[in-house]
Amino acid sequence: MTAPRDPGTVPTTDGRRVAVVTGASSGIGEATARALAADGYLVVVGARRLDRITALAEDIGGIGRALDVTDPDSIAAFVDGLDRVDVLVNNAGGAKGLAPVGEAVEDDWRWMWETNVIGTMRMTRALLPALEASGDGLIVTVTSIAALEPYDNGAGYTSAKHAQGVVHRTLRLELLGKPIRLTEVCPGMVETEFSVVRFDGDQEKAAAVYAGLTPLVAQDVAEVIAFAASRPPHVNLDQIVVKPRDQASARRNIKTG
Ligand code: NAP
Repeated sequence: MTAPRDPGTVPTTDGRRVAVVTGASSGIGEATARALAADGYLVVVGARRLDRITALAEDIGGIGRALDVTDPDSIAAFVDGLDRVDVLVNNAGGAKGLAPVGEAVEDDWRWMWETNVIGTMRMTRALLPALEASGDGLIVTVTSIAALEPYDNGAGYTSAKHAQGVVHRTLRLELLGKPIRLTEVCPGMVETEFSVVRFDGDQEKAAAVYAGLTPLVAQDVAEVIAFAASRPPHVNLDQIVVKPRDQASARRNIKTG
């Protein structure tokens, strides 16, 4: 175990490339932070559950800071002093509820749009100058196959993920000519806390989503992100779709037929 760094101070990178991972307190974000740390990055991790973030930072010799991507003040405190940033992984996000548009719960929709879409915009805007100054920046945005395809009862999430994907793909156009690569990672079913959050803590309902098929695990997606980050500066992996073998589309898997 590497000694944790003081989260209050400006990091000394020791010449290491610096990666920022949002939503690193569980699932894909945590696994990505571990994968990038194993590849030699100094990883700065953020999420709202500071206890988990602090423990992770300690484990990987990184820097853990509280982060709520829906709160501009929290973002400002999180990025304060991060003078060097080579990689930004916009991972914080998720779904709330599963309801037809006719029964949409506005608070759930607001949560999904604030976190996935506006959170990605805010984090990217805050770190763009540092990413450009690095001379070889990379922005990875974890969208979803829900960013590519709608499904019944999922419009709150699929519309937010489509919008998040469009923000990311627009940046790809706007940043052409600058030393910043952009990779969108679109996972299918990954067994994380995602469904527990979607179903408001109902573990049984969440487990049923993955019963009867073999979903991806967080590390599967983390390895894809680490691979994208390991490519040379002239190679841009634009969009990567990664699904379990048991899932053909957002609407079809071996259970639905
Ligand atoms: P997860 O285990 O629930 O992780 C979500 C992470 O986002 C947590 O660390 C959570 O931390 C963080 N988060 C939520 N709201 C936040 C906020 N306001 N500010 C900062 N962090 C916040 O789910 P996951 O599957 O790893 O999800 C990661 C990303 O993958 C999400 O964008 C999700 O939409 C996407 N995705 C997931 C799947 C899947 O099947 N699991 C498929 C496609 C795409 P705190 O609660 O501690 O803040």
